[in-house]
Amino acid sequence: MVAKIIDGHAVARQVRAQCRDISDSLKAGGVTPGLAVIIVGNDPASKVYVANKIKACSEVGLSSTVYAFEAGVEGAVVEAEIERLNADPTVHGILVQLPLPKHFDVRRVLGAISIDKDVDGFHLYNVGGLVLGDTVFPPCTPFGVQKMLEFENIRIEGQNVVVVGASNIVGKPMALMLMQQDATVCICHAKTRDLAQFTILADILVVAAGRPNLITKEMVRTGAVVIDVGINRLPDGRLVGDVDFEGVRQKASYITPVPGGVGPMTVTMLVYNTVHAAKRQADKLGKLGKLAGVKTGESVESLPKAYQAPVPA
Ligand code: NAD
Repeated sequence: MVAKIIDGHAVARQVRAQCRDISDSLKAGGVTPGLAVIIVGNDPASKVYVANKIKACSEVGLSSTVYAFEAGVEGAVVEAEIERLNADPTVHGILVQLPLPKHFDVRRVLGAISIDKDVDGFHLYNVGGLVLGDTVFPPCTPFGVQKMLEFENIRIEGQNVVVVGASNIVGKPMALMLMQQDATVCICHAKTRDLAQFTILADILVVAAGRPNLITKEMVRTGAVVIDVGINRLPDGRLVGDVDFEGVRQKASYITPVPGGVGPMTVTMLVYNTVHAAKRQADKLGKLGKLAGVKTGESVESLPKAYQAPVPA
């Protein structure tokens, strides 16, 4: 068996086309979806990620603004900026580029973002919503993986899913999202003993450990779907995932490449979340009525007041 390669760029193109349609409808109603990106310090990788996000937004017709702060800025200053953006009706999504400098209380900063504008899905409410299955904005990387599986019509219900990696931004939310779709989920991490005894059981194997060649073909069941989230730069400059692509490809039914797999989906789901944030906020204001065929996230109106996002006047 030789696996079908899931082309992340192709899936991303399709999702972005849907986003553009929604964005065009919103604009026709006088609302231009807008993303605000906060970056603190001079981390070169963060700058590249932010540039990619801005580019993706402009390709779909969204407006975006970067708010850059010096590395030494006080947390309170950034939180005050977030409060201002929460109340700005032209801003529908707010993202704080991580990591923040060490003196920041990251949870506090992310908690300052209005739930209705939390397009990265890192606010505690959205994280908790993953457990209950009613998150407003799922985090972008696992959401992208979910879209790729959906695009290929890969069945989730009743499947054995093994997620390798238990980070807050990829592994844990991925496991929760697939559990909500009635998969039987196992999470492995750096302290897992004999990783292969788990991975070999997977109908769907999602790997997000940041370890090149962690998953070899002996660890994969014939016909498994293998999603490689890892991005690793080798000493020779090559970019690879966590999976031995050439070996595993001979055994799997589907596999994602690195680069060109999950990567393009992450930034695309940020655009998706931002467009849907704009639509939710416009719907709340009764500006557009319901757009046919567009699903919006659950309402948070029933939350205690402290958790409700301010609706722009
Ligand atoms: P992280 O370092 O926060 O977490 C890594 C997880 O992998 C931890 O739970 C750790 O216990 C586990 N792990 C490490 N070594 C392991 C081993 N030998 N066996 C089993 N588990 C092991 O990393 P992260 O932020 O979750 O990112 C993981 C990888 O995914 C990185 O390569 C990162 O660059 C990549 N990533 C890609 C995208 C994308 O858009 N494609 C987005 C986010 C992260």
